[in-house]
Amino acid sequence: MHERIYDVIIIGGSYAGLSAGLQLARARRNVLVIDEGLRRNRFASHSHGFLTQDGKDPAAIAAEARAQLMAYPTVAWVDTRAEAAQRLDQACSDAAAFKVDVDGTAYSSRRLLLATGVRDILPDIEGLAPRWGKSVFHCPYCHGYALNQGPIGVIAGSVLSMHHGLMLPDWGPTTFLLNNAFDPDQEQLTALAARGVRLERSPIKAISGHADVALGDGRTLSFAGLFALAATELASPIADQLGLTLEEGPLGPIIKTDPMKETSLPGVFACGDAARAMASVALAVGDGNLAGAGLHRSLLSGAI
Ligand code: FAD
Ligand code: MG
Repeated sequence: MHERIYDVIIIGGSYAGLSAGLQLARARRNVLVIDEGLRRNRFASHSHGFLTQDGKDPAAIAAEARAQLMAYPTVAWVDTRAEAAQRLDQACSDAAAFKVDVDGTAYSSRRLLLATGVRDILPDIEGLAPRWGKSVFHCPYCHGYALNQGPIGVIAGSVLSMHHGLMLPDWGPTTFLLNNAFDPDQEQLTALAARGVRLERSPIKAISGHADVALGDGRTLSFAGLFALAATELASPIADQLGLTLEEGPLGPIIKTDPMKETSLPGVFACGDAARAMASVALAVGDGNLAGAGLHRSLLSGAI
């Protein structure tokens, strides 16, 4: 009995991994998807900005994509976390080049795709975490419109929050809550004023209700929604285990890839939030489409 060798193991079966899987399934390749089911947007009940799916439940988008992918006979799926991955010496183009450990079982493949996403590191403000994706957000395009031009609070995390501060007035009257995160210089103050942004210097004590911000000086400001800056970290340590080259995105590290999404380790590809600085469902799907084609091309080239 020979062990089963998949053409590609995809770790991460959300938008990016599903999209890559679809390309590979349609090339009649054998694919195993390993997915823990912790999508980055699982805190939100509506997803916006993805053609034909605007306003739909993000879980429903992923579930429909999964059902369509699983209709292909060459695709297998395991619902669990991949613990570790390693590179093997590939003797010939048909041999396994990678081994992935899952709950005491080892799966082998010729190529590997990391579509593992990132984790948001939320600001440590009382009451913020339970409201993430509900009334506290990071993406104006995803959630700004639904606030119906009501009052918006931007919680500064660093000077990078200037970006939020200057954008959000397009979605509603904006208050920039400095929260001692940085001290805007004259040029920044002028830019905020030109956009009609109100500045609030009293530090934040807690968030309660829908989006009520209690300030250190005793006042409470109520908003239709809040925007906060979250740093990110790779959701899986597998990139580090494999020694992949990372690069610094504006909010955290991402896996470095070439234009066809191959990483610094030949045969290992990465796509979606884990491997690009700008994040959205549409971009993850596009990135996965590219990675699927890149993986297929790599398989055709034989041993790595
Ligand atoms: P993810 O969707 O994060 O999926 C990664 C998958 O990999 C997960 O299922 C995870 O469990 C799995 N995984 C990770 N490590 C392992 C492992 N070791 N083993 C097995 N599985 C693993 N974008 C929009 O376009 N519109 C929106 O409205 C929108 N709303 C958002 C709301 C919130 C609150 C947040 C935080 C983000 C939102 N986004 C939105 C951004 C969007 O969620 C991401 O861009 C998108 O999910 C990225 O897709 P992905 O497939 O790269 O990663
Ligand atoms: Mg959303």
